[in-house]
Parts: sequence; structure tokens; C-alpha cells
Amino acid sequence: MLKDEDRIFTNLYGMHDRTLQGAKKRGHWDGTAGILGKGRDWIIDEMKASGLRGRGGAGFPTGLKWSFMPKESDGRPAYLVINADESEPATCKDREIMRHDPHTLIEGALIASFAMGAHTSYIYIRGEYIREREALQAAIDEAYDAGMIGKNACGSGWDFDLYLHHGAGAYICGEETSLLESLEGKKGMPRMKPPFPAGAGLYGCPTTVNNVESIAVVPTILRRGASWFSGFGRKNNSGTKLMGLTGHVNTPSVFEEEMSLSVREIIEKHGGGIRGGWDNLKAIIPGGASCPILPKDKLEDAIFDFDWMRENKSSFGTGCMIVMDQNTDVVKAVWRLSKFFKHESCGQCTPCREGTGWMMRVMDRLVRGEAEVEEIDMLLDVTKQVEGHTICALGDAAAWPIQGLIRHFREEIEDRIKAKKTGRMGAMAAE
Ligand code: NAD
Ligand code: SF4
Repeated sequence: MLKDEDRIFTNLYGMHDRTLQGAKKRGHWDGTAGILGKGRDWIIDEMKASGLRGRGGAGFPTGLKWSFMPKESDGRPAYLVINADESEPATCKDREIMRHDPHTLIEGALIASFAMGAHTSYIYIRGEYIREREALQAAIDEAYDAGMIGKNACGSGWDFDLYLHHGAGAYICGEETSLLESLEGKKGMPRMKPPFPAGAGLYGCPTTVNNVESIAVVPTILRRGASWFSGFGRKNNSGTKLMGLTGHVNTPSVFEEEMSLSVREIIEKHGGGIRGGWDNLKAIIPGGASCPILPKDKLEDAIFDFDWMRENKSSFGTGCMIVMDQNTDVVKAVWRLSKFFKHESCGQCTPCREGTGWMMRVMDRLVRGEAEVEEIDMLLDVTKQVEGHTICALGDAAAWPIQGLIRHFREEIEDRIKAKKTGRMGAMAAE
């Protein structure tokens, strides 16, 4: 369990002063010029050694991603783009950083941009995050006024500009290349990868896109040392992490915890346990809508980190868990997710545009029990046709929850179909 003195985010609940003065009192902006003075290579090497994996959901190693940026400029400017388009269902961790600890992000943006040779950084913030935008803009203005960013940032000799861009509320704009399109003023539709953004990103220039939390933890990691950070969690899953709990826990919350604790410890310590006790647990969705559901019998010894979740055919995602008790209609819950993905598909590629519609329509019938049992395998087949055949990860994200449902709760779907046929349905019907 993480001790108070090891927390990076010391104002997560807004109990303290979030201004520059308050942030400095809590240890932020301490020796920033000295960190830059150690040079780009040192910063990137430290980030690699820390083991930090991207906190937006995909878990790609952050230091490695930074190392893809060109060492020498070929005349094109480099950019750091910070993905604050937090829209994953049940995930609201970056929101707390921007509301209450915005200076962690601004200092991180300066250091990360310097390490990648970028004089300019953009934060792309979710359309609905209005109070967060206001808090962040106020902090950016303060940082400019105090000389922490802008010309000769922190007296380091490095010029650095930071702009906040407000999105318009489309989930797909959280996908990094779609976000870049939107930032360029175009319709937010994902690009084919490769090229990855480090080769051709914003305006065709070398760009790194990182999640808010991935950037906000950078200054503390560099101040306390890579080995301090990598000392938390298991190998390949290191560090502390902002996590969340929603659903049928007694105290839903966002909190900072070390990686690789057990799912049970996380729920009991930070969620006050399951409503009705541990035995009343039915399933969890570990870290966002795309992460396949896991039933209770898989969760007794489950470890809450990237590798355990992958090895058990789910994903850690954003680390913001949805907890479901025995009263939950899991078929209906996954049906709701399939509606979400159908609605959010940008429609650019056929397997996703058509497949999300197909999956939703079959789920519609399954949830009402109006399908045939054979359609369960037909639906599984449709998910396989979508998975891995689309331009961006939204296609996979739409397929995986359904695959998880069929893998672990096939009997529940079949019972529903049988109940409908024998006239026992009623309460099970979808709204
Ligand atoms: P991804 O695995 O394709 O990429 C992750 C990052 O690694 C990207 O920045 C990508 O450019 C980089 N990368 C991957 N392979 C690379 C390579 N070979 N060379 C260079 N760079 C490489 O995943 P993604 O599509 O960016 O993200 C999917 C994840 O997003 C899902 O896991 C989901 O949990 C998460 N998500 C989060 C939110 C949120 O609100 N936080 C919303 C939607 C989805
Ligand atoms: Fe658009 Fe879906 Fe294709 Fe992604 S997978 S580009 S959201 S149609």
C-alpha cells in the first residue's frame, strides 16, 4: 500500500492551494532548471529506467516513445501533444489532476517537451471539461507570468509555449491521430499507423502524444529518481498510478496507489468493499469500456496491473475499474457498451462502421432474449471479423467486451433466450 509521503498527487481532492504558490509549497517546480540542465539524453534514459508505461490505457513505455523523436532537427518543429480528451466510460482520473494539481502537468509538459526538442506543446482537453479548462488555463497564465514557461523558461535558456485547445465532445478525438486531425482544424478521424506521430504527427512534424497523467508524473520521477518509481509494483508494471472505482462499491473514488496490488485489496482499501460484501461480487471491467469483463471466480488472486490483465484475456486500460455485484444484468451492461461504440464509431472504415451496427443489433436481440442460441456463435464470429481489421483501436474496443461476455457469461445469455421462449422473461427485458 502506498504511503502518504510517496504520493505524487498531493492535492487530488482539492484540499490545498492549487495555485503556483501552493504547488511550490508541496514540492513542485523545485529545481526544474537543474533537471533541464542534465540534458535530453539523461531525462529520456531516466524515464526509460523508471519503467513508466503510458497512463492513457495502452501502456506503451513512455521513455521509449520519447526516444523515437528525432535527435537533430531536419528543419521541422517538434511537438508534444498532451491528450486530455478523457472520455473512457468510468474514467475520470486526469480530470482530478487538471482541477486540483494543474502545475504537475505544466511542469511535466516543459520537461517532456525539452527532452524531445519541442518548443511548443498543446493540451487537447475534452469538450465537457469546462471547469478543468478554466483551472488549467489559470495555472498556465500564472506559470507564464512567473517565468516558469515562455521565453527562457525557469531561467533555463529554453523557450517553451503551452497552448490549451478545447475539443468538441467526440470520443474518437481521444484516439491520438484523430486528435491531431482535430487539432489541425479537420474532422476528427483516425489516420493509418504507421507512420507513427514521431515520424509524421501534428502538421506532418515529429510529435509525441502522451496522456495527462503520463506527463504529470515526470517531474516527481526525475526529482526522486527512476529507481524510486520502479520500486513500486512488479517488473514491467512499475510505479504509482491514479486509479478509480465506480459501480457497486461502498465508496467510489479516484486515488493514487502502487501498481500490482490485488484487485481485492484495491476494492477493499479504496472502495470500502463491495456492496453486500466480497461474496456479492459478480464481475469487474478493469479499466475502461474496451477491457473485457472478468467474473468473480477469476478475481480471487487477480493482480491489478497490465501484465496480469493481459495474461487473463482482459486489459488494465486506464486502471479505473467498474465493479458489478450479483444484482447486475451483465448482458444488459455489455449491450449498453455496444450501443456506445456504435454511436462513437467515426464510420471511416467498413468493418467498424458496419460491424459495430451488426454487433449492437444482435446484442439488442440477445438482451431481449429474442435471438436463437446459435446466434451467440454468429455474434462471436462478427467480433472476430472486426477485431484487428480496422484503422484504429475502436473496432477492437467494440469487439472485446462482447467476446468477454460470451467467454464468461454464455450461460446467462442462453438462459435469457430460453426464458423468453418459455415465457419467463419479463423483468429481464431491456428498457
Ligand atoms: P496503441 O497501442 O496503438 O498505441 C499506444 C501508443 O504507443 C501510441 O502513442 C502509439 O503511437 C505508440 N506506439 C504503439 N506502437 C508503436 C510503434 N510500433 N512505434 C511507435 N509508437 C508506437 O493504442 P491506442 O490506440 O493509442 O490506445 C488504445 C487505448 O486507449 C486502449 O487501451 C484504451 O484503454 C485507451 N483509451 C483511453 C481513453 C481515456 O479516456 N483515457 C479513451 C479511449 C481509449
Ligand atoms: Fe473510425 Fe471505427 Fe475505423 Fe476507428 S475503427 S477509424 S472509429 S470507423
